[in-house]
Amino acid sequence: MPRSPAPPPAPLVMAETGCRAGRSPASMLQTCPYLSSVRPGADPRLVYLTDTTGPETPTGPHPPAAAAFGIVGLDRTIVWQDDAEVLDLLRYAASGPRATDELVTRFGPGRVFAAVGREWLQDPARLCQDYRVVSGEIEVTAHCNWGCVSCPVATDPKPRRTMPMPLFEEIIGKLAAAGAQYVTFQFFNEPTLDRHFAARLEVLAARGMPLALYSNASALTADKIAALQRTGVLKHLIVNIPSAEKAEFNRLTGSRHFRHTMGNTEAALAAGLPVQVVVNGVGARLERNLEGVERHFTPLGAEVYPSLTCDRAGELGGETPRTST
Ligand code: SF4
Repeated sequence: MPRSPAPPPAPLVMAETGCRAGRSPASMLQTCPYLSSVRPGADPRLVYLTDTTGPETPTGPHPPAAAAFGIVGLDRTIVWQDDAEVLDLLRYAASGPRATDELVTRFGPGRVFAAVGREWLQDPARLCQDYRVVSGEIEVTAHCNWGCVSCPVATDPKPRRTMPMPLFEEIIGKLAAAGAQYVTFQFFNEPTLDRHFAARLEVLAARGMPLALYSNASALTADKIAALQRTGVLKHLIVNIPSAEKAEFNRLTGSRHFRHTMGNTEAALAAGLPVQVVVNGVGARLERNLEGVERHFTPLGAEVYPSLTCDRAGELGGETPRTST
């Protein structure tokens, strides 16, 4: 979503890299595959959807009056342009490599070299080598102590395995260098069973790397809550509580941890940690359970929301949205 006042459209001069630095453009060129075009005031807007954050839109200034279109790259910033032929150029070179001479003849050297300078047109040999890392999902432990009806772990439990600290440190270093904004520890496992839990938080703190902690909270003991407080790395604690009613909880999670999970989540809230409670399920049962969990946790300061589950193509033999609504 544009946020700041409108500057004039970006001028069509060779910019930033490539040509300005004195390098000749490659003999063949192709449009960078990560570009999106937007029109001033057009709907639908460009929206990015991710697992762990809500919908996001590109940033950048309001479109100037002369803007014909905008280009958004991996940095998700809109660059407005007033020359519609630049968009024709980018579309023309999008489906495959084009001879640079041909592009220059068709669209003019100014447009072509400016697009090369912005890396909107690239040497086909280096296409798809850029990347944008937002987060890293790290399987610090393999196993889980529950068997939720909607989870593959219920029928195919994973072995007890723990990632060694040197490997973890290496991963965090690489993610930090790549610009990752946060990490998670979850991958069909329970990260609070990790014997290195506190040490991993220290590594994250040293790197300034936030943690979105997905957990069933059954082993979120007071010392782990204190470590989360002390290190300050917690972005969100997202707790899986499918029901606030003990028998239903036990049935849906295949566990006997109702008291632990409820108590530990309450303790995390009391400690001032940012807690979200997710209620997994489908249909009328989900509605009923959501109501109960909201009634219990919303007054304590938790954000409560539902999450629709599936039966993994029948593998779990559980409820599906189609059969239960
Ligand atoms: S707590 Fe999470 S990982 Fe464990 S069984 Fe339930 S959904 Fe799967």
